This record gives sequence, structure tokens and C-alpha cells, in this order.
Amino acid sequence: MSNQRTYQTQAIIIKKTKLGEADRILTLYSPTMGKIQGFAKAVRKPKSKLGGHLEMLTYSQVTLVRGKNIDTIIGSQTLDAFLMVKNDLDLLSCALYMTEMISQFTPAETEDIHLFELLLHSIEQLPLVADRNLLLRYFELRLLGQVGYRPELGKCVLCSNKLETSINSFSPSAGGVLCRSCHRLGKHYGNAISWDGLEVMRFIQGGDWESISITPIDATILDEIERMLRSYMRHLLEREIKSIVWLDSIKRDHGKPTQLKAYTAGIQVQYVNQAYITPALNS
Ligand SMILES: [Zn+2]
Repeated sequence: MSNQRTYQTQAIIIKKTKLGEADRILTLYSPTMGKIQGFAKAVRKPKSKLGGHLEMLTYSQVTLVRGKNIDTIIGSQTLDAFLMVKNDLDLLSCALYMTEMISQFTPAETEDIHLFELLLHSIEQLPLVADRNLLLRYFELRLLGQVGYRPELGKCVLCSNKLETSINSFSPSAGGVLCRSCHRLGKHYGNAISWDGLEVMRFIQGGDWESISITPIDATILDEIERMLRSYMRHLLEREIKSIVWLDSIKRDHGKPTQLKAYTAGIQVQYVNQAYITPALNS
């Protein structure tokens, strides 16, 4: 094995796919190469030395060897296991949603250090923030901007006219807010957005996290922004985001445990005897 064929990178494990009895194909998000895939041989065997360092949502230093079709992971060392996130179902659902968004919105092998830092910073922030929904909206708006789908919120996305300080409409197909005249033309469907909702959305889109995180924002406004962004992302991806179902069920059942057996992004969670058992992250 020549040294040129072996390389190292830091990466967050964002997706895993079972292969046969014991192997896996992992999707890694790295700061220097973007989204890459790695073959993890025998990683599901109990004695695997790699296994613990290659769980979903683990930040690791990974060594790979180049292959013809796919690179093989030959070494891994955990940098941060994000245990506080993994041990809290609420936080875990948020983090898995973030990784699915990264997986869906990024092309393979395209370096984007800002996006990597956004993902890492957002997962690190999850146990610390007072309002996780605010962090999720910040994450979505930053990600959309970074991958070229920054919604136009400052002026009408079609005619560039100034928006009225009342109700406007947010159009997923147009990629931003429509003025009343453009909305009336009916070429693009739009969802009504309040002036407060639009102003807060602009603030989250343009502000820095340090300022945003200490600004109290009404939950109904955040819900409104969530609806706008969801319809936009659904339009862009042309499908639902799988982990949203789980995210919603946990949000809905927050504080009142229910019988839950969710399966999302390769992570199985079971509810047993009044406590959520640790998700089978290594299944
Ligand atoms: Zn217009």
C-alpha cells in the first residue's frame, strides 16, 4: 500500500448504509473534501475497533485508502462523540435533521469549509441553546444561502419592488417574497407571510449567531418561518425530508412520553418502560 493511496481527514458521519452482514457504506462530511463515501469493512462486528469511532453523528479523524470505486476506511479516532446530543432524543432528532439536510443539499466531493463549520457549530450548540427551533431556522437559512438557494427576503423576488409593511407572500417556486402585484399575477404560488415573520426571517438570515441566540423570538413567529422554509426546501428537493417526521413527533410529544418506535436516517429508537433507551446508533 503506497502512501499516496492513503489519506486522512476529519469528518462527521452523516449517513450509513448497511452492506451485507457486517459491512457498511458511510457518508462522511469533511471540511476539505465535502461529502465523501467510505467503505467500512466488518464494522458491525462486536469486536470491530473501528465501529465505535464511526457511529452516526460522530466527529472523527478518519484514515482512508483510495479504491477504484469507493475508498475504504482503515482507521478512525473519535474527536467528539456528541454524547449529550445522542443521549437526548429531542437533541438527537434535531442533529439528524441537520445531517440529512447536509446530505441532501450538497453535491459529492465539493469542499465547503463554511458548511462544515455550520454543521459542527450547530451540533455543538444544540445542548447549549435555549431555543432549538431558533437554531434550526438559523441552520436552514445559512445552509440554503451556502448552497446557492438563498431566499430573497429584502425585496420582491420577481420585480425587485419594495415590499409593503403588511402581509406579503413567500413563494417557494420563485425563491423568495412576492410583492402584492406579482402575487396577483398568479405565476407563482405564495404562502402568506406576516411582516413580523419576514423581519425576523431577515434578521436570522443576515445576523450572526451570537446576536441571534440571545434575542427572544416569539414561538408563533418561529413556527411561521418554519412553515415557509419547509415549503421552500420541499420544493427544492422535490420530496419530503425523512427526518422531519421524527422531529415533529418528538416536538408534538415533548414532555409526555409515548410509545415510540421511530426509524430515521439509519437510527432506531425504542421507547421502553417510561424512558427512552439509548438509540441504537450502532445497529
Ligand atoms: Zn413584484
